[in-house]
Amino acid sequence: MAKRQIDIVAKEMGLDDNIKKYLQRVERCLIVSIPILMDNGKLEMFEGYRVHHSTIRGPGKGGIRYAPNVTLDEVKALATWMTLKCSLLNLPLGGAKGGVCVDPTRLSRTELEKITRRFTSEILNIIGPDIDIPAPDVNTNPQIMAWIMDTYSMNKGRSIPGVVTGKPIEIGGSVGRESATGMGLYYVLDALCSRENLDLKSQKVVVQGFGNVGGTIAKILFEKGVKIIAISDISGGLYNKDGLDIKSLLEWRDNKHLLKDYDNDNYVYINNDEVLEIKCDILIPAALENQIHKANADNIECKIILEGANGPTTPEADEILQNKGIIVVPDILANAGGVCVSYFEYIQDIHSYFWKLDRINQELKNIMVNTFEEVYNLAIEKNLTLRIAAYIISISRLEKAIELRGIFP
Ligand code: NAD
Repeated sequence: MAKRQIDIVAKEMGLDDNIKKYLQRVERCLIVSIPILMDNGKLEMFEGYRVHHSTIRGPGKGGIRYAPNVTLDEVKALATWMTLKCSLLNLPLGGAKGGVCVDPTRLSRTELEKITRRFTSEILNIIGPDIDIPAPDVNTNPQIMAWIMDTYSMNKGRSIPGVVTGKPIEIGGSVGRESATGMGLYYVLDALCSRENLDLKSQKVVVQGFGNVGGTIAKILFEKGVKIIAISDISGGLYNKDGLDIKSLLEWRDNKHLLKDYDNDNYVYINNDEVLEIKCDILIPAALENQIHKANADNIECKIILEGANGPTTPEADEILQNKGIIVVPDILANAGGVCVSYFEYIQDIHSYFWKLDRINQELKNIMVNTFEEVYNLAIEKNLTLRIAAYIISISRLEKAIELRGIFP
């Protein structure tokens, strides 16, 4: 999918074939085996990946996900999108991603710590503040980042907080990092509504995914008085045409409950396919990739799709949505708030000087809104979708960097 998206944009912008070839390959992948002595005394082997797609514009940057079905190809695509995202925001960073094939809900805390520390040791040589800086992604969190930071530091013989972002604040994390992706989504949505003359408060919103990204954007919109009419997690979703009480659903989630078990006679239980097809104004897919595809794109009824997840819309679906007149705000723009505040965290760690929340949110807002305006203006000027416009801006910067550096040797 990532390769096809680059193909489509390359054609649109007349990209040099050499540059296209360069961007459609990853720089390096490391595949590691992770042996873990489980609590029951049995040895289990897990597989992990760390991929650098590009370090042309700076050290690699990208999350680590823990999921039973993670594949190397998936991690390569996610690393590619990180390169495009960092370039779009004009951050001096490249693109990377990691994954471990494991269902973390099956692990005890000790097993989770062991797997994290062993995975970190295995990828030690290709991460570091000047090389590649991991961060949280699906099923990883600040505690896991703390173990990564500690393992790396112990191996180097000194504390190196800048090796990873999304850490707890007490050990060099940044205020505002946990909510950053959701905040970024909000700033972009707000700017888009202004340009489209839509009153955000009166829009009806559906969110797929109730984790870091989905939960935060739902909370922000709910607190601003916007109606969230449906939301889902892995167990399915809840729908109420008059809006859901997101505050109590978040409490339910934080107490480790699934949405399907939430008891409220006014809410209708729906499955994850149905969630995407509910008529609404704004649909926010914030769970996983490949959710909106050829088979369901035609059933989607909304004005705006704001991509909280990475790669939630396939290129075939993109075409269908475009023909239906739905505005799709692409992932590399919409959800870039996370990497943006990760970049702020990295700078703060290197300088050992920490910013206040106001400064984080103001700088985040400036970057997100300015990038949105750049993309929107190009899309209007050249009659392009926002995805193509965003890719053109991002790839042009990468093209320039490749030309300036030249191809070694
Ligand atoms: P998370 O683990 O915190 O939450 C994922 C949510 O999706 C959970 O509610 C889970 O129950 C739900 N889910 C999982 N499988 C599902 C399915 N098949 N159908 C419906 N819901 C399902 O993860 P997150 O950090 O919120 O990441 C979500 C997406 O956003 C991913 O694509 C990730 O790459 C992307 N993203 C995350 C960040 C970040 O800062 N966390 C930044 C940019 C992009």
